[in-house]
Amino acid sequence: LLEQRIHETVLEVDLDALVHNFNFYKSRISPQTKLICMVKANGYGAGAVEIAKTLQYHRCAYFAVAVAEEGIELRKEGISTPIIVLNPEVNGFEELFSKDLEPEVYNFRILDAFIREAERRGITNYPIHLKIDTGMHRLGFLPAQIPELLERLKSQKGLKVKSVFSHLAASESWMFDSFTQEQIDIIDVAHREIGEKLGYPVWKHILNSAGIERFINAQWDMVRLGIGLYGVSASGLNGLKNVSTLKTTILQIQEIPNHETVGYGRKEALNRDAKIATIRIGYADGLDRKSGNRKGKVWINGKYAPIVGNVCMDLCMIDITGIDAKEGDSVIVFGENLPVLEVAESIDTIPYEILTSISPRVKRIYV
Ligand code: PLP
Repeated sequence: LLEQRIHETVLEVDLDALVHNFNFYKSRISPQTKLICMVKANGYGAGAVEIAKTLQYHRCAYFAVAVAEEGIELRKEGISTPIIVLNPEVNGFEELFSKDLEPEVYNFRILDAFIREAERRGITNYPIHLKIDTGMHRLGFLPAQIPELLERLKSQKGLKVKSVFSHLAASESWMFDSFTQEQIDIIDVAHREIGEKLGYPVWKHILNSAGIERFINAQWDMVRLGIGLYGVSASGLNGLKNVSTLKTTILQIQEIPNHETVGYGRKEALNRDAKIATIRIGYADGLDRKSGNRKGKVWINGKYAPIVGNVCMDLCMIDITGIDAKEGDSVIVFGENLPVLEVAESIDTIPYEILTSISPRVKRIYV
């Protein structure tokens, strides 16, 4: 069985490293501040259920997911920690209410639909989280809509506002610090206005990972930790541990003579004799096709090897000329020696996309 495992393409997830990162951020915030751990998009690709089970054991205060289905999956697997659903739609009410999932309410359409549904079911004080758009311009009520929002909230009993929050657009970037500070100031004012008018205590939050790293004074009642948990610091902070390692194996090694070409479209034309290895990972596994033709590389037996030619669906080729390797050897696509941040930069994307693109056929193994 072990032999079989070795020859698979796997995402190895180091749960001790995850817990280390969780505690790392916990030690930077006040004991009163609640940590919301982002487990959307299958826990940034690492496997939402295992990640949530581990963090629940370590007393994470809250989880956040993107859509109701993600929350339902966690509930079915025994996660009892409160869960925020960030982008709910009106057709998901049944499951939201029955599974105790707390929706983000981001516009009047969703608000009115929730009010109607809570009334219809005779539900009172169902917890919701109000999203205010302070400059990201993705989802949320604009500050000018708050008076109208308060009118509608005060004339109903079905929903109770648990928190007022916003999302930072560029918290990692020094260039936009004054913009970030403006976003922080806007939510601060909005929260005060909403809290005063509603007449009961309401939590306030805005910080994501880079926000926690750089704007700790705005930690307030809650912070929302995403990418940092998975070992990537957008602001270049030291002290995080690598969580996920994408591994595959060499299926074949051949000596290919000078002037031959490698792969589809004959894009890699050799200019010397080369030792070419074919590894068992392709774009259907989530290896971006843009990594081909020497833009990306892998780590094998202590050395880097470029990805040559076009990436295929299930395979790709690497140039291991001068590297001591044999068929069956393990190859690291990203991990400790090949940080996901570096991999992302090599193909002009962000670590989030690399991590969440790993396809379901890649087995997640927890170590
Ligand atoms: N809060 C919201 C609303 C988000 O959409 C996200 C992630 O996209 C986060 C927090 C976490 O961000 P990060 O992964 O940068 O910490």
